[in-house]
Amino acid sequence: MNITKMTEARPRIPIAPVLSGASFRRGFAAPRSLLNAGQVRLVSSGRIAIAMALREMKVGPGDEVLVPAYHSLSMVPPVLWRGAAPVFYRVGPGAEADLADAAAKVTPATRAIMVTNYFGFPQDLAAARAFCDAHGLLMLEDCAHAFFSEHQGQAPGSFGDYAIGSSMKFFPTYEGGALVSTRHSLAKVALAGGGAGFEVKAALAALENSFAYRRLALLQALLRLPLWLKDSAWGALKRRRHGAAAVTLAPSSSDSGVAFEPRWIDKRSSMFSRAVLTCASTGRIAALRRKHYLMLNEALRGLPGVRPLFGHLPDGVVPWQFPLLADDPEPLFAALHAAGVPVVRFASTLWPGVNAQTCPNSAMLSRHVLALPCHQELRPDELAWMAAQLRKAAA
Ligand SMILES: *Cc1c(COP(=O)(O)O)cnc(C)c1O
Repeated sequence: MNITKMTEARPRIPIAPVLSGASFRRGFAAPRSLLNAGQVRLVSSGRIAIAMALREMKVGPGDEVLVPAYHSLSMVPPVLWRGAAPVFYRVGPGAEADLADAAAKVTPATRAIMVTNYFGFPQDLAAARAFCDAHGLLMLEDCAHAFFSEHQGQAPGSFGDYAIGSSMKFFPTYEGGALVSTRHSLAKVALAGGGAGFEVKAALAALENSFAYRRLALLQALLRLPLWLKDSAWGALKRRRHGAAAVTLAPSSSDSGVAFEPRWIDKRSSMFSRAVLTCASTGRIAALRRKHYLMLNEALRGLPGVRPLFGHLPDGVVPWQFPLLADDPEPLFAALHAAGVPVVRFASTLWPGVNAQTCPNSAMLSRHVLALPCHQELRPDELAWMAAQLRKAAA
């Protein structure tokens, strides 16, 4: 891991959950989880889970997969990896799947549709399910943002033939994704370990990220010697592999890369990530994310030129981030970014060829949505600081 680079790019507060002692605190009601939806295979990223789901669906050359025009760039390469063609369907102004447009794009070659529960807010999944049944399509429910958002009393991922999740977006882990199915057996999906280097890297990267934000100060002090040893060992390993160690030990998905690396197909998530998924308090994740979302929603009230993408937080929704619509997004993003606010722009780049003609709302959302973190490891002072920066930047 390149510590120098990380320090330079590091915002004042963590963009994603970092490990702390509180991560394991009990006493909250556990939400329904994607991992409760059916059979589960824990892999190293959400995009790898997408690729494996498409393979389970027997999607192959000549097939078409309906993909939302509003998407993460990581959703498309798995389709291409299967030799299939992505066909982009429209979304509405609130990112709701436009099933009429999807229906117009169904051909005899269409095999499946990806339905994304953006920012943790479920789509009309019963309608999406009915659409798939009517057209004989398989449904891949993308729960990358919705690990804990139940819908109509059912666990996330329950409406899709297959569902995927991205562990790093909800848990303080360096890598991880989930392939889940309520409807089909995953018995034939066998996973192998990612190797000793991967296991070490996954654990140490998560700890280092926590140390960078001083969330585990005592442990950090205790681990100073082992970390020094690790850095030395790392250097030696890198020299031996001519600098290739950093790219081969762990998937680039863990460093905000959009690359798709087929060598992580059928590889098990690290022991460290699996332990965190087992031990972390999911009730705390759900309760604090909802609380932080509502705090940011309140802070936004009355500010000129900005409004929440989803003003209402329905029961059972556990948000990934707090997305807001900005009238004039570029200066606001620049001001927040310069202040050290970990503001992000989901889908700011769309797949080549996808534009306002493909889908006016996707082009609009891609440009106007900025998102702030609302994860469980943000502290009250950090949320207040972020709200103050938002007020200052929007004024
Ligand atoms: C992040 C993301 C993915 C892929 O998850 P990774 O774990 O980063 O591979 C898939 N779909 C959406 C909507 C995402 O935001």
